[in-house]
Amino acid sequence: MENGFDNRHAFTEHLAWTSDSPLGLEVVGASGSFLELADGSSLIDLISGIAVSSLGHRHPAVLDAITSQLDRHLHVMVYGELIQSAQVRLAERLASLLPDELSVCYFTMTGTEANEGALKLARKKTGRTRFVAFERSYHGDTMGSLSVTGHSVYRDPYEPLIPGVIFLPYDDIDALSVIDSEVAAVITEPIQGEGGIRVPDPQWLKALRSRCSESGALLIFDEIQTGFGRTGDLFAFQNSGVVPDIMTVAKAMGGGMPIGAFISSPAIMSTLRTDPPLSHVTTFGGHPVSAAAADAALQVLLDENLIARAQEIESRVRSALEPCAGVVEIRGRGAMLGMVLQNASKTERAVRQCLDGGVLLGWTLHSDTLVRIAPPLNIPWSVLDQALETIREAVEQLSEPVNRP
Ligand code: PLP
Repeated sequence: MENGFDNRHAFTEHLAWTSDSPLGLEVVGASGSFLELADGSSLIDLISGIAVSSLGHRHPAVLDAITSQLDRHLHVMVYGELIQSAQVRLAERLASLLPDELSVCYFTMTGTEANEGALKLARKKTGRTRFVAFERSYHGDTMGSLSVTGHSVYRDPYEPLIPGVIFLPYDDIDALSVIDSEVAAVITEPIQGEGGIRVPDPQWLKALRSRCSESGALLIFDEIQTGFGRTGDLFAFQNSGVVPDIMTVAKAMGGGMPIGAFISSPAIMSTLRTDPPLSHVTTFGGHPVSAAAADAALQVLLDENLIARAQEIESRVRSALEPCAGVVEIRGRGAMLGMVLQNASKTERAVRQCLDGGVLLGWTLHSDTLVRIAPPLNIPWSVLDQALETIREAVEQLSEPVNRP
């Protein structure tokens, strides 16, 4: 209940649910690493709105940038027609941080829309139709992105999707030989997120790059979850030394505001200009308020050295939780981590117990034994330590010692 309005009733009656058991906590505020609830309690946010709030909630620099942009203008024209300072500054800042092959941005609103753009761009550039993607991948829920998402349980209700998609096992060099001259693009996450926080062998990414270059298929890295410092590098591809032809980003990009992009080279991106012109347009992509927020968020990420903090988060999480009885494995890199427990029921109970203890955790989409740990990169160490202690207690209460892999 808020100012006489029954939020819970409206949530139940008038908001479409995506499962039968949403968390259903009533949020009245959020600041830094905390969510404030209607019952007066607060939660440590250890998942950052699923890898979005990397600067914590309502970072002052992001709020300032939003306010300044509100005073200038909101939406003025569909994307790509007018020169809008917020957009072009962001595009230039990104280009200054990326190799020449990734110097041109097309802004979107969301991650899935960035992937749609990348897939269309690859088809138009190569004149080919087929795509290769990987088992357990997640690329979004619109028709194109879903077509390359590697879990049939999510695709089946919506078939027929895009034909000609081949799914290969992730991190398997031998399987790459099927990438041939009919493939327009290969799309992958450089670290799988929803598939259960899976870090591939760097040799696999190198082999994938070589196979794409040999066959003329474009390589798309979906950095929607891994991007903007989450894995301890600005973008995960920078750790592997493998540069994709197209990169997609979103989530943490806007510092809490909706924005995404597909990013490529001038030569590849120029295919969108002609034959026909306006064949890939968007009304709200790169909204000026989101673009201003994203530019400020990127500056904060660099100025406050938060990328190095992601690495420190990893070592603190590993040293607190790896020795715990009941923890099978801690997977991932930087602040994109997953804690594997013994079975689904223990995992569910541990997450519930942490919630009761004031720590918000979650699952990944394709795994029920892995608990996602993705704190804001600027979480104070004392808050992280407190959250890790709550997790440790919850896990140890539930578990017998396990055999580790
Ligand atoms: N790609 C990856 C790797 C993601 O993790 C997600 C969302 O979780 C998406 C794409 C889809 O992004 P959005 O929900 O903004 O459409």
